[in-house]
Amino acid sequence: MSSQIRVTSTLSRQTEDFVPVSGNEVKMYVCGPTVQSPPHLGHGRAAVAFDMVRRYLSYRGYDVTFVRNITDVEDKIIAAAAETGETTEELSIRMAKAFSQAYDGLAVLDPDVEPKATEHIGEMLAMIERLIDRGLAYATDNGDVYFSVRSLESYGRLSGQDVDEMRAGTREIVGDLKHDAVDFALWKAAKPGEPAWDSPWGQGRPGWHIECSAMAERYLGETFDIHGGGTDLIFPHHENEIAQSEGANGTTFAKYWLHNGMVNLGGEKMSKSTGHLIELSEAIDLYGGAAVRLFYLRAHYRSPLEFSEALIDEARTALRRISGVLSRVDFSDHDAEPEVIDSFIEKMDDDFNTPDALGVVFETVREANRHLDAGEPAEPLAAAVAEMIDVLGIEVEDAEDGVSDLAQGVSAIVAELGVGEGETTVETLDRLLERRSVARAERDFATGDRIRDELGALGITIEDGPDGSQWHRR
Ligand SMILES: [Zn+2]
Repeated sequence: MSSQIRVTSTLSRQTEDFVPVSGNEVKMYVCGPTVQSPPHLGHGRAAVAFDMVRRYLSYRGYDVTFVRNITDVEDKIIAAAAETGETTEELSIRMAKAFSQAYDGLAVLDPDVEPKATEHIGEMLAMIERLIDRGLAYATDNGDVYFSVRSLESYGRLSGQDVDEMRAGTREIVGDLKHDAVDFALWKAAKPGEPAWDSPWGQGRPGWHIECSAMAERYLGETFDIHGGGTDLIFPHHENEIAQSEGANGTTFAKYWLHNGMVNLGGEKMSKSTGHLIELSEAIDLYGGAAVRLFYLRAHYRSPLEFSEALIDEARTALRRISGVLSRVDFSDHDAEPEVIDSFIEKMDDDFNTPDALGVVFETVREANRHLDAGEPAEPLAAAVAEMIDVLGIEVEDAEDGVSDLAQGVSAIVAELGVGEGETTVETLDRLLERRSVARAERDFATGDRIRDELGALGITIEDGPDGSQWHRR
């Protein structure tokens, strides 16, 4: 078949033919987490979206190099560490581990390279010096370095920002050393108690944007194929990455810019800053990683996605249907039905249209079942199902136990204790733990033990630790 992969790039605002910069090689950079707090469902979606893109491009024969960084020095990490009483290093190592565990739970493949910002300060300093030499950046007397936005004519191309309009939206800060309010920091002079490195401008630390520009160039070169991240990173982060990299090198940075949509809860974006979120490890514990992954992939990666337990429930049912048909027939020595695979490829080639590709998967599951019910062979159909879900990274062994039983069991306790009505099961479980600690603090051990026992009967274990209690699904 002579199908062509087409991708929608935020940069061109169009769906275009995917043609790698160099032959069969595809180089991808995806902005990884700022490791300040545990991942929530939104982080999982970004990881799964680009894992899916990576797996599909490999399946289509490309030689993919996948880089996803860890931002382990940034304002938010410094603030979060001040709250937990850890050093920024302790906190970022602990959180990076939490991200890595959650990614494993979602069957996200490890990146080829996972660079840490703190291990690439030299590359960042070299890039900042290049920008100063080219007249695109300047140091201030206190040891900050800023990118001079107006010096780069193409600034704003990705996000469609107009510099004059941006300026109207900024405030003049008295004593600000920036030449223009729209300029952004490449290097920040050290403040007492913050992590700092030596630089030509004195002790300091990098700005967030320069981290990605420097790490992408270190591992993928000046120009590479795909840059990915969430839509919330388009401005200012990705706009500034382009300004820095193209400003420093005078070459194109990334050819295609792919952005995944946000995950909403009750119509509002999940975010750490508002605390409006479901933690990823909790969702994986409760629903199983494969169901969460399938929940993500049933929406197009660019669309916003509303979390609901009904959708997770549907994903679990769908997983059981897949594992059902695969256990009905031994297809191990058979090739996949070519027509089915052609149709799957056609959907995936169309900007990674996973909802339609999953439509092909489920139509094939139905057809295989019909064949088997009629006593006809279905090995090539089952082999096609196995091949397609493998490309999508969906592992069906994980599909045991109905979430509905658990959700119903939890709502029974809720009705009795009168907490958490109208919340998701995850929120309710958190609420029940809170209720239990209050009961224990009030020496009402009967209620505390009842919550523990009833959750235990539903397969939820409570672990009491120095930082409070946590629940896990057995
Ligand atoms: Zn980035």
